[in-house]
Amino acid sequence: MTITTVSNEQLAKEYVDGVFEQLKQQNCHQAEFLQAAEEIFISLVPVFAQHPEYIQANILSRIVEPDRIISFRVAWQDDNNQVQVNRGYRVQYSNVMGPYKGGLRFHPSVNESIIKFLGFEQIFKNALTGQPIGGGKGGSNFDPKGKSDSEIMRFCQAFMTELYRHIGPDVDVPAGDIGVGAREVGYLWGQYKRLTKANESGVLTGKTPGYGGSLARKEATGYGTVYFVNEMLKDANDSFEGKTVVVSGSGNVSTYAIEKAQQYGAKVVACSDSSGYIYDPEGLDLAAIKEIKEVKGDRISTYVNYRPNATFTEGCTGIWTIPCDIALPCATQNEINGESARTLISNGVKAIGEGANMPSDLEAINEFLNAGVLFGPAKAANAGGVAVSALEMAQDSSRVFWSFEEVDAKLHQIMKNIYMDSKAAAEKYGFPGNLVMGANIAGFIKVADGMLMEGVY
Ligand code: NDP
Repeated sequence: MTITTVSNEQLAKEYVDGVFEQLKQQNCHQAEFLQAAEEIFISLVPVFAQHPEYIQANILSRIVEPDRIISFRVAWQDDNNQVQVNRGYRVQYSNVMGPYKGGLRFHPSVNESIIKFLGFEQIFKNALTGQPIGGGKGGSNFDPKGKSDSEIMRFCQAFMTELYRHIGPDVDVPAGDIGVGAREVGYLWGQYKRLTKANESGVLTGKTPGYGGSLARKEATGYGTVYFVNEMLKDANDSFEGKTVVVSGSGNVSTYAIEKAQQYGAKVVACSDSSGYIYDPEGLDLAAIKEIKEVKGDRISTYVNYRPNATFTEGCTGIWTIPCDIALPCATQNEINGESARTLISNGVKAIGEGANMPSDLEAINEFLNAGVLFGPAKAANAGGVAVSALEMAQDSSRVFWSFEEVDAKLHQIMKNIYMDSKAAAEKYGFPGNLVMGANIAGFIKVADGMLMEGVY
C-alpha cells in the first residue's frame, strides 16, 4: 500500500485554486474583478500553507464575497430639462477593520466589475494603513465631462438621495476617486445634511479644508506614492535626485505625485490625460499643469501653448516609450501591459510606483519583478489617500483640526510603515523584495485575524 502525504503547500494551493474556480464561475463576466482577485489569491498560497486555521474557517471564500452590493437608479434633470438616468453603486465589502471606506468613481466605464475590483483591493489597502477602516467602493456610470456645474450638482444630489440611507460616519464613509473631487464631495455632503438633519461631517472625506476637510488630503495620494517609492529607492541606496520621471494622468494623484517628485529633485518629463500625453524634455512646468487642469478644467494638449518646446502626442500608451528612471502610473487600471512593461525595462527603468489602482496588468507585473525593477504595488503605494481620509475622520470626530505639516508628517510615517510591513511580510513568507506578495500578505493577515476573532457570520 502506498501512503501519499500531501504537503501544506499543496493543500493551500488546492484550496486557493478551488475558491478561484468557483469565483470564476460565479463572476464570469467580471474581468477586472477576477484580475484583481487572481493577483491577491496567488500571493496568499504561502499564507494558507502556514495557517491551516484560515482554511478551516474558509476565510478566502468569505472575504471575496462582499457584505452587500447596493445598486440604484439615479434620475436627474439636465440643463435642457431632459430627464437622464444613470446607475449608482455602493459595494460594502468588509467592515472587519472599521466602517466601510472607499471612494466614489464617476466615469462612463463604471460597472459592477470595476467597483468590486476596487472594493476588494480597498480592504487590504485600508488594513495596511493601520487605521481603523474597512473596505468599500462606489460610483456611477455618469460622465462628468462636458457637464455644467449645475448638472454636476443636480446629479450629486440625486445620487446622495438614495445613498444617504446606506452610509454614516460609523457605518460607511465614501470619498472621491476618478471624476469626484472636492466640488462633488461638497455637493454630496450638502445633500446628506439636508436629508439627515445631522452635521455628521465624518460621513464623507475629501471635503474642503475649513468645511470639515483635512489639510493635505488633496496632496495625500500623490505625495504618499512618492514617499513609498523613496523608501524603495533608499533601501537600494538610491534617491529621486536627478532622476528622469514619467507620470501618467494629470488628475489629482498625478498632479501631486509630480509636485513631490520635483521637490525631491527629480525631472518629470511627461504626463497625460485620456486623449494623449505631453513630453517636455526640460521638465514639466507644474504651475501650467495646475492652471490647465485645476483652474480651467482644460485638456492637457493645451500645455504646448505654455511651453513651445513641449510636444503633445495623441493616444495614451505611447507615454511608456519615453525613456525614464522612474515611472509613476497615476491614471487608471490596466494602463501598462506586458509590451509597455518590456519597453520601459529595455529603456532602463529602475522603479515603478503605482499611484493608480491596478495600472499594471499581471503580465506587466511579472515582467517588472523578473527584471529586478523595484515595484511598489498600488495597494501599498497609493494608500496615502485613504490614510489621510482616516485622519480626516479622526479630526471630524474630535472637532480638532491639524496643520498641513502635522498631517503630512503622519502621512509620511504611515507610508514608511506600509513599506516596512510589506517588506517584512515578503521576507517572512519567502519572497524577499517582492512587495506585491508582501503588501497582499500583510494586509490580508490583519483582516483574516479579525475575521477569526469575530467568528462565522
Ligand atoms: P482624476 O479624475 O483626478 O484624474 C484621472 C486622470 O487620469 C485624468 O487626467 C484622466 O484624463 C486620466 N486618464 C483616464 N484614463 C486615462 C487613460 N486611459 N490614459 C491616460 N490618462 C487617463 O482621478 P484621480 O487622480 O483621483 O485617480 C487616478 C487613479 O488613482 C485612479 O485609478 C484612482 O482609483 C486612483 N486613486 C485615487 C485616489 C485619490 O485619492 N484620488 C486614492 C487612491 C487611488 P481625462 O481627464 O481625459 O479623463
